[in-house]
Amino acid sequence: MALLILTDLDGSLLDHEDYSWHDARPALERIRQASVPLVFVTSKTRSEVETLQRQLAIEEPFVVENGGGVFFPPRYDELELPAAEVLDRYRLIRLGDSYTRVRAFVEEARPRFDVLGFGDLSAEEIAELADLSLKDAELARQRDFAEPFLLDPVERIDELTALARREGLEVTRGGRFFHLMGRGQDKGRAVEIVVGVFERNSVERPVTLGLGDSPNDLPMLERVDIPIVIPRLGGGQLEMEREDVRMARFPGSKGWNEAVLGVLAEEGMGPE
Ligand SMILES: [Mg+2]
Repeated sequence: MALLILTDLDGSLLDHEDYSWHDARPALERIRQASVPLVFVTSKTRSEVETLQRQLAIEEPFVVENGGGVFFPPRYDELELPAAEVLDRYRLIRLGDSYTRVRAFVEEARPRFDVLGFGDLSAEEIAELADLSLKDAELARQRDFAEPFLLDPVERIDELTALARREGLEVTRGGRFFHLMGRGQDKGRAVEIVVGVFERNSVERPVTLGLGDSPNDLPMLERVDIPIVIPRLGGGQLEMEREDVRMARFPGSKGWNEAVLGVLAEEGMGPE
């Protein structure tokens, strides 16, 4: 049976505190051996995903900035895609509004809201806030679609969300930040596109496995065959209405590893 894995990064494949994937090595190795596509569905930017893919020595389709765009690398050039544009070496299916438009809303809202977005911050400040290295913070600042932000006081998020919606934008919540983005995008819509492409291009429909830890992962987890919630450090678990949702036993890469190995074994792809 063909399997397709769609995963959030921060707090799921990557540990919340230091972004390490070390504990997921056994599952990553099995995924490689079994040639299972591993699709990152993340709030991170293209530059950040490219860096991680290089570290893991993989070249797979990926979804950036909370569903803003779906990128297919040259390795998948034989796949038939719906309307895609060419961007550098990729084929890109664009779902989000431009970063310029999203930033314009931040400026517009500022007189009434104490909102602080990545576009207001230096790489040093982002590194500090997000526990990133300076180099990674610079990659996180290279944005195309969505704006991560903090709000003070955080209780005013419903008010800000209502204003954003009136302007055709949407707000969602990730592990560390809120994210402001175009209304046409979320992780669920992006996942539908990725799964659709694999379905149309395969003999058999792949079984889809999704993993995430935050509210912005819900639209993705609702659309996969096997949803797995990764618990969050310090509690406040993601709640999901589906009865067949599975909960990993540990946060971050350790929980991800065990949960993925479990599904691979069920699907007949366990260690030989
Ligand atoms: Mg996350």
